[in-house]
Amino acid sequence: MPAKGKHRRPKSQGFARTIVVAGVGGAALALPLLGATGAHAATPAAAHSVVKAAAAPAAAKTYAVKGGDTLSKIAVAQNVSGGWKKLYSDNRSAVGDNPSLIHPGLKLTIGQKAAAPVTQASAPKAATGAGYTLPVRSASIGTAYKTAGSMWSSGYHTGVDFVVPTGTPIKAIAAGTVVSAGLDGAYGNEVVIQHADGKYSQYAHMSSLSVSSGQTVTVGQQLGLSGATGNVTGPHLHFEIRTTPSYGSDVDPAAYLRAHGVSL
Ligand SMILES: [Zn+2]
Repeated sequence: MPAKGKHRRPKSQGFARTIVVAGVGGAALALPLLGATGAHAATPAAAHSVVKAAAAPAAAKTYAVKGGDTLSKIAVAQNVSGGWKKLYSDNRSAVGDNPSLIHPGLKLTIGQKAAAPVTQASAPKAATGAGYTLPVRSASIGTAYKTAGSMWSSGYHTGVDFVVPTGTPIKAIAAGTVVSAGLDGAYGNEVVIQHADGKYSQYAHMSSLSVSSGQTVTVGQQLGLSGATGNVTGPHLHFEIRTTPSYGSDVDPAAYLRAHGVSL
């Protein structure tokens, strides 16, 4: 027998046989009580070894994000079936609203994740925390809600300003129906959407619009591009949440988005 017999083939054959024995192990375990002997004596040990073998592949793996990583890079490198979208949905709460923003050191779970987040994502839009997104992919807030100032006719800022360059895609924060899309004085090119909860979202100063009044939109659907139309000092998205389609019924948009699970 050569010394390299350490990696001999019978190892895998033995493993396969163990599984076969264990396949009937559950039934065989009860037999000794009925008076069966000898032939079944080895079964409990075999069954035990298979329980361990079967449990191993089910364990999820944790991956620590490194500098330069993206979800799609990790998904490819770790062979995630379903790609970065699966990886994102499995780690939605850890990653947050923006799949393109992951920090070094962030722990991601890879494989064998409960189906719950996926189910939730495809569920009807009514649920809190599902079906809402930021109106722009990522941006800093320039002027916060209710900032006082003489340049606003109400005496305060009625929305939040997201600082984005002209040409940035503007997205519906949730599904709804477009109630107006067009030029509106100081707001420039503007879109107003009514949502299922009765609230309205408004997007102003856009350079171009790609939806029209009466159209239904899905969460994240592009409404047009940001710009600097209307009364502005520079390009940005002015964003409001309202209780009616009209100016003057504003509520805190950041609080509204946060209440629906969007971080900003
Ligand atoms: Zn504004």
